[in-house]
Amino acid sequence: MAAAETFVVVGAGHAGGRAVEALRGAGFDGRIVLAGAETHLPYERPPLSKEVLAKDKDLGFCLTNSEDWYADNRIEVILGDPVRVLDPGRRRIVLDSGREVAYSRLLLATGARVRRLSLDDLAGVHYLRAIDDALALRRDLRDGANIVVVGGGFIGLEVAASARQRGCAVTVLESMPALLGRMAAPGIAEYVADLHRRNGVDVRTGVTVTAFEGGPRVEGVALAGGEVLAADAVVVGIGVVPNVELAADAGIETDNGVLVDEFCRTSAPDVYAAGDVTNHYNPLFGKRMRLESWQNAQNQAIAAAKIMAGGDEPFAEVPWLWSDQFDLNLQIAGAGMDADETVTRENANGFIVFQRAGGRLIGAIAVNRPRDMRAARTLIAKRPDVPWADLADESIPLRKLIG
Ligand code: FAD
Repeated sequence: MAAAETFVVVGAGHAGGRAVEALRGAGFDGRIVLAGAETHLPYERPPLSKEVLAKDKDLGFCLTNSEDWYADNRIEVILGDPVRVLDPGRRRIVLDSGREVAYSRLLLATGARVRRLSLDDLAGVHYLRAIDDALALRRDLRDGANIVVVGGGFIGLEVAASARQRGCAVTVLESMPALLGRMAAPGIAEYVADLHRRNGVDVRTGVTVTAFEGGPRVEGVALAGGEVLAADAVVVGIGVVPNVELAADAGIETDNGVLVDEFCRTSAPDVYAAGDVTNHYNPLFGKRMRLESWQNAQNQAIAAAKIMAGGDEPFAEVPWLWSDQFDLNLQIAGAGMDADETVTRENANGFIVFQRAGGRLIGAIAVNRPRDMRAARTLIAKRPDVPWADLADESIPLRKLIG
């Protein structure tokens, strides 16, 4: 790859940060421009709902690299200046400031933004995606404060656990009949609800929020049926929406994310994409996936960077994510939403649910069994035909089944 070439990475989040690192790691010696809408250097988001809220950690704890690293590696970083136009025909981007940058190859790593409730925003109503959101929320998590969390998914439940650790009185409101609605594996939602209740969280499922009351600051959350819950602050965690607009406006194919193949290629020449914004083809499962996870942001970005720098290795991994709530470590791997049968292995530490479809192992969910999850990920990738009864048999170590 000629040194005179310019590679541009749009989005200075987790994927963008890892991509520029991997471009240099793969030997690309040309110009690299990293353009981000936020005013911070790339950072990882998992600590935002955990260590930043519960343990007073700050941005420095989350950064993917120090400021010096970008200078030492000749990465031109443009922050606080969102890319407004991507023009694949002329191979250039236009930033909000009007600045234009020409590219030879470009990576879209624009991630996702929070889905918002269609209710009036009042002061004290928080959404959590960026470090500034986390720091603002932390200021409201005072000992004894009434915190209402809207949404019983991972983010809401992690915030609930952190808020309890700060001494807040916490209520979680979930509109579906169970927590973690997208994870339909037996026992998991009940286990998590019970864990939160044991730790003093008021968990309510099947409830609908109709209004935030108060003003200018929120004072209460009104529910269908008329009840109003007192609230000193509210946190809404109801999912994210991929930031596809830049790609879509450029005529690049999108469908619940920017469509990419296993080589991270979009429908436009020399435009690649990685991370939460993508809907990618996964050859291990023979289907498309849009993932919202640390692993996908990190490893798809690295794969894309290597391919941009001349590599030919496809991105093909078993999806994996984790969540920490109180003393719970929950890990999910594979594509379990397609499962037609499950089997559970259980011991005193926790349990792991294996998920099968058409007789093949496709997913696993582990409660406090991180070591077994490592073996499960390998089994899903390499031994989907593993004997079903062996998976439930605690006397057979999982790693022995890998073969
Ligand atoms: P992002 O991190 O969203 O970064 C995209 C960046 O692009 C943003 O900075 C955005 O401002 C910028 N951008 C967007 N549009 C433009 C534009 N036009 N021009 C320039 N820049 C633009 N995953 C796990 O596996 N485990 C966890 O425990 C976990 N915990 C999480 C906790 C929280 C609070 C959050 C928010 C996420 C968590 N995740 C977790 C998910 C994980 O952090 C994300 O999947 C990951 O951050 C995605 O990285 P990304 O780079 O694709 O997108």
